[in-house]
Amino acid sequence: MPSSSMLAVAGLLLILALVIFHQVFWPGLRLQAIQKRVFPRAWESLLLRALPIYAGLSREQQEQLKNLIKQFIADKNFVGCAGQQIDDVIRVTIAANACLLLLNRNTGCYPLLRSVLVYPSTFVVAHEHQDEGGLVSTHEQVLVGESWGDGKIVLAWDDVQHGVTDFSDGHNVVLHEFAHALDHEDGASNGAPLLRTRGAYKNWARVFAAEFTELQARAQGGAGSLLDQYGATNPAEFFAVATETFFEKPRELQAQHAELYAELVSYYQVDPVGWLAAHRAT
Ligand SMILES: [Zn+2]
Repeated sequence: MPSSSMLAVAGLLLILALVIFHQVFWPGLRLQAIQKRVFPRAWESLLLRALPIYAGLSREQQEQLKNLIKQFIADKNFVGCAGQQIDDVIRVTIAANACLLLLNRNTGCYPLLRSVLVYPSTFVVAHEHQDEGGLVSTHEQVLVGESWGDGKIVLAWDDVQHGVTDFSDGHNVVLHEFAHALDHEDGASNGAPLLRTRGAYKNWARVFAAEFTELQARAQGGAGSLLDQYGATNPAEFFAVATETFFEKPRELQAQHAELYAELVSYYQVDPVGWLAAHRAT
């Protein structure tokens, strides 16, 4: 008969083995299973409508994107708010645009994000603010999208559709909010997402600080700018706005802000100018 202490040790070992399996092996096995699933035929046409630039991607990038979309839709909880129904059009449209930011980067599929909340239209959020004396006040904001650091992104479906329909106007709320999500991944929303090397931050900071200062000066001076002047709000908004411009107006960004374009090519590991050329050739 095994002693009670032997049974306790065996029990602990079993629990440890289950924890290791769940933490170490299960995510990889689950991901493999998701990637083996066939990309549903109905999603193919939704994808073409959701991402007009899709035809310009290389075949290999298209396959990567489909795998990321499958993973995104399997992993993230889509929540309809204020009466919004969730269907595959919504799932594929949001997932396709969000996953465009992940191509070639092997960074996982927004590991901190759990839920995507979708409102039919602009929504009001109440933000609490505590002043230095401890007094808490609430102010309300009308928004088309919001990315929270607590694993949620909130989007207005009509604005998502508008951003997708015109993929060359530099405005795309999905790209914008998911750029914020990338920025959050290092724990600080400061316009500097996780870069691949320590040395990369120096050049990133130099280029982004100069571009941000220039946009602020243009906004204050009433001058026009390629980048939406909402990007002059703070460095985090600048990164989100620069991301929208990078994917939607890459030629103009490359011509007018070559160093910023090059930093974004280095970070996103794609060159959207090439997609435009390939897209037109098809
Ligand atoms: Zn923003």
